[in-house]
Amino acid sequence: MSPTPQPTISLQARFATDLPELSIPWQAEQTPEPRLLALNEPLATALGLDPDWLRDREGIDFLTGTRPPEQAAPVAQAYAGHQFGAYSPRLGDGRALLLGDLTGPGGHHLDLHLKGSGRTPFARGGDGRAAVGPMLREYIVSEAMHGLGIPTTRSLAVVATGRTILREEGPLPGAVLARVASSHLRVGSFQYARNLDDPAILRRLADHALRIHHPEAAQDAQPYLSLFRRVMAAQADLVARWLLVGFVHGVMNTDNMTISGETIDYGPCAFMDAFDRNAVYSSIDSGGRYAYGNQPAIAQWNLARFAEALLPLLHEDQDQAVSLVTEALGEFPRQYGTAFSAGMRHKLGLPAEAGDEAVGPLIDDLLALLQQDHIDYTQFFRRLGHAARGDLGPVRAVFTDRPAFDAWTERWQSFSPDPEVMDRTNPVYIPRNHLVEEALAAATAQDLGPVERLLEAVSAPFDERPGLERYAEGPPEDFGRYRTFCGT
Ligand code: AMP
Ligand code: MG
Repeated sequence: MSPTPQPTISLQARFATDLPELSIPWQAEQTPEPRLLALNEPLATALGLDPDWLRDREGIDFLTGTRPPEQAAPVAQAYAGHQFGAYSPRLGDGRALLLGDLTGPGGHHLDLHLKGSGRTPFARGGDGRAAVGPMLREYIVSEAMHGLGIPTTRSLAVVATGRTILREEGPLPGAVLARVASSHLRVGSFQYARNLDDPAILRRLADHALRIHHPEAAQDAQPYLSLFRRVMAAQADLVARWLLVGFVHGVMNTDNMTISGETIDYGPCAFMDAFDRNAVYSSIDSGGRYAYGNQPAIAQWNLARFAEALLPLLHEDQDQAVSLVTEALGEFPRQYGTAFSAGMRHKLGLPAEAGDEAVGPLIDDLLALLQQDHIDYTQFFRRLGHAARGDLGPVRAVFTDRPAFDAWTERWQSFSPDPEVMDRTNPVYIPRNHLVEEALAAATAQDLGPVERLLEAVSAPFDERPGLERYAEGPPEDFGRYRTFCGT
């Protein structure tokens, strides 16, 4: 069979061109024996990339960054960040590269970015590499988030490099993940630019962000305050969506918070099974800083760091700049609360006429019941949809305090909840921890079947299908306490 001809791939370099001070030109390291493990064909096609070509050697080398298109100018991006509250002035892409930007659906530009592509000048002590398991984990969870309608970076491909890498657990197969995002600008990018002490660079970064994400705001009387407000609104909405599906990001450092409002960096993240406001999965988050219920407060804290970075652009008088942005930041809790309760209304199938004064307590009381009985969050809402159709038995059976649940149900039913809305809002399939672990263990042992089947389930999470029953079930009794790891 003759190889698929190389397509013309036009990769632009909008970030490297606009912000050379935040870019280090760099190349991916060679891969001894690359093997394609996962390819997102619909995404590839939407990006104008031929899936058949990507499966060939030339395409695989494109996906690992080892054979970039001729005019491409790959860079490692500089950023800073607060990690667990402590400031690191220089983080940056230690094991990642921005290959360039592609024209995506609707003519929008999308960054093509690699993870695990070798050490860069930002690598510090790291080896610049990534293991098959964590890269497939990012692939699965980001595609699940996309299926759930939550803004996220998307995964294009995972390629095993053929190199063995060393981790605490022992030797593991190495991999490179190719992902796309509307940009890879982070709060930490602004913190880094602010530290350069040259307001012209900071302004250029803010103009770049406005051009990419909010071109309409560039004409506002105060474009940089507009930028702040819009990033805040996007993050309030994003974090509300996380809580609505039971997602715990796990490492909400400011370098892992995007300007676009897309979820980024699926390291120690997890979906909770039993509802628990204090759910923490990351092995290093011993204080619970990034616990499920803390995520809105942390998002606001991170946005305060973003605000500090923007101060020189907001007003020449520092006090005035502070007061402008403090007032804006004060809006966060209300914006988050509005987004969360709007989402909960859908989850509960409530009509628009139901007043906030009744709905607020209805939500709070329900969450208290779920917490008290450690109820499986995803199953509960899906089964509540059956209850809205008259089948109350299965959802009622999981509560110990039945009188309390019955009293709550009576209030909820008085709004005549709409089961159709509930079925479109409450997923059947999420990437549950035991399923992800099972799939990754198989993939590490070279069996990709379980990853493919899990992806099939979570890519269409609202659409209940025969044969996928086990993907809707809770964890087995002996699954135990789940732990995730970063820096993998
Ligand atoms: P993360 O926790 O994945 O968001 O990464 C935090 C920082 O550590 C970033 O600057 C990464 O580029 C860097 N980093 C993480 N793992 C590695 C690695 N294996 N080699 C080099 N740098 C790494
Ligand atoms: Mg990161």
